[in-house]
Amino acid sequence: MSAMAESEVSSLRRLPAVAAVLATAEAVLLQQRHGRVPTTRAIRQAIDEARQALRAGSVAAPSVTELAQRAQTLLEAHTAGLRPLFNLTGTVLHTNLGRAVLAEAAIDAAVAAMRHAVALEYDLDDGARGERDDHLRALLCELTGAEDATVVNNNAAAVLLCLNTLALGREAVVSRGELIEIGGAFRMPDIMARAGVRMVEVGTTNRTHAADYRDALNEGTGLVLKVHTSNYRIQGFTADVGARELAAIADAAGVPLLNDLGSGSLVDLSRYGLAKEPTVRQAVAEGARLVTFSGDKLLGGPQAGFIVGDRALIAQINRNPLKRALRVDKLRLAAIEATLNLYCDPDRLAERLPTLRVLTRDRDDIEAQAHRLQPTVAKRLGDAFVVDVGACFSQVGSGALPLDTLASAALLIRPRGGQRALERLGATLRALPRPIIGRVADGALYLDLRCLAEAEESLFLSALSQLDTDGLAARAP
Ligand SMILES: *Cc1c(COP(=O)(O)O)cnc(C)c1O
Repeated sequence: MSAMAESEVSSLRRLPAVAAVLATAEAVLLQQRHGRVPTTRAIRQAIDEARQALRAGSVAAPSVTELAQRAQTLLEAHTAGLRPLFNLTGTVLHTNLGRAVLAEAAIDAAVAAMRHAVALEYDLDDGARGERDDHLRALLCELTGAEDATVVNNNAAAVLLCLNTLALGREAVVSRGELIEIGGAFRMPDIMARAGVRMVEVGTTNRTHAADYRDALNEGTGLVLKVHTSNYRIQGFTADVGARELAAIADAAGVPLLNDLGSGSLVDLSRYGLAKEPTVRQAVAEGARLVTFSGDKLLGGPQAGFIVGDRALIAQINRNPLKRALRVDKLRLAAIEATLNLYCDPDRLAERLPTLRVLTRDRDDIEAQAHRLQPTVAKRLGDAFVVDVGACFSQVGSGALPLDTLASAALLIRPRGGQRALERLGATLRALPRPIIGRVADGALYLDLRCLAEAEESLFLSALSQLDTDGLAARAP
């Protein structure tokens, strides 16, 4: 045996046994907090890691205390899961950060539905079986002007279900300018294929005319599809057929028009000083027989997909066995109902609906907040960073109003050292018990404060106070 292999074997022998680590004061506490089985598993993992490090040439075997500490880190990382974080990216409806934050009324309703039995599919008037959709049908019809409505898991499911119900084994006609991809693998051609419909593309990328649709319609056509180009715009030499004209073309051929609005909105956002996004009521009035839209985009509710429109078509959709597979649970139904109820009182909507409150937040207000926080943050980050208040632009996110930005203000953090220091800062902020997520641009970390409620300022500062600034400064170049 070579000298090296001998030393490797002897250092591997020096690795503590699981029982020895379990007996430490630290591990006793971990067992109380997390339980014996998870603690033992984490200690095993810590020992495995140490063994691999020794094999890879590490010289010192860790002590029992060091192994227990490593086990604690592993356990905490494991239990952290979906913990709250500060979304300071400047993207309000950030798909990767869970999109809309719910209104208090929606949270209360969901909690009550979790804790108690509810009349989910039970008619309280006559004590007979009821329908899950009954809770939302009247509200959705009132808010959109549609005849009937149903709700499923998300808008992708809504589109899939409409296509599959109305055009299984048949053709669906769609403009080449509207074959969208939404982040996270929603691609219209793929959804159409999975729905069992044959996609018939008409027009070109930039121009589609009424005659293109008319020429494509035949006995094999199941529906005409119009898709809101949520996350991009085609500009320049363009032409498309408006929903009203397209509805007439589809009607004349005896096939329904399905209008996928994507985000859609239940109120005219220009009323609150935001850019116009098509409202669902407008899309219904323009004659689409079915309109689909998301629950957790501009609407500001939980993840859901709404289908509103023609009563006979909604009834057909509800009979599709896929509907059962795509349905929504009582938690979300309760939260959706409470969110929709807020829309019945548009005057107070911007106060009560976090999505709208945050989107309409005044730039001066955000800037004042940045000035309030700047001294504490600068002090906390120390000499390795310069912290200024800077202007920036927030985005709506989730493909809604893609070209529209909102003037905002940020804490602008620049490292005195190089780019590595900035990356390390980003990683350290993400590793906090309540992570802080910013956006890196032009060699600086922007913490856009639009989404930081005033009531959360002290939480933000106490999160920062847990920052491992020694680590940041010590390793700074
Ligand atoms: C966002 C979007 C979808 C997908 O909606 P989800 O609720 O994310 O499933 C579908 N179509 C359009 C036009 C969209 O903007």
